[in-house]
Amino acid sequence: MAFEFFKGFGVTFSHMFRKVITTDYPFKPPVSAPRYHGRHILNRHPDGLEKCIGCELCAWACPADAIYVEGGDNTEEQRFSPGERYAKTYQINYTRCIFCGLCIEACPTRSLTMSNEYELARDSRQDLIFTKEQLLAPLLPGMEQPPHPMRLGDSEKDYYVGALTNPGTSAGAERAPWAEASQVDGSEPTGVTL
Ligand code: SF4
Ligand code: SF4
Repeated sequence: MAFEFFKGFGVTFSHMFRKVITTDYPFKPPVSAPRYHGRHILNRHPDGLEKCIGCELCAWACPADAIYVEGGDNTEEQRFSPGERYAKTYQINYTRCIFCGLCIEACPTRSLTMSNEYELARDSRQDLIFTKEQLLAPLLPGMEQPPHPMRLGDSEKDYYVGALTNPGTSAGAERAPWAEASQVDGSEPTGVTL
């Protein structure tokens, strides 16, 4: 009996001197791994135009049916992206998303990427359906809020040739210190801890 007693407390004592793995959340949120699959971002070209062309490939690739895209036609007066089409409506339903990343693999323009943001708890299901305005990357200095004409060239090719050396806003942009300040559309900066 006495042996069982000391054996039980032995387990407790052996844990008392181990390294503490609990974190002081939410005051000191743990830093996620660099390639952690968190909240999505819809990126922009360096002039502020949207990279999304409303092709719906991400929606078709999604195994959880979490993405809804409705394409629209760009016109010379109302241009949101280079080329013919843009995403008139774009939504991701985070009650469905399993963060598998298949959507970002399918995206032909590297418009859709994933950030490290994991603080996605909301009070209602409705709030977990993120709209295009919430998903769009904030404007960097030098970028202009669409709609506006193409600034990088006369055709959409000018946006894609050499794009890797001038990538515009890319994954993780929303965690940058300027993200909150440059949220120009008046929307809430989507629960980001900066
Ligand atoms: S990460 Fe996976 S589940 Fe979530 S929207 Fe993309 S494809 Fe769908
Ligand atoms: S995010 Fe990419 S795959 Fe999805 S509609 Fe836009 S361009 Fe197409």
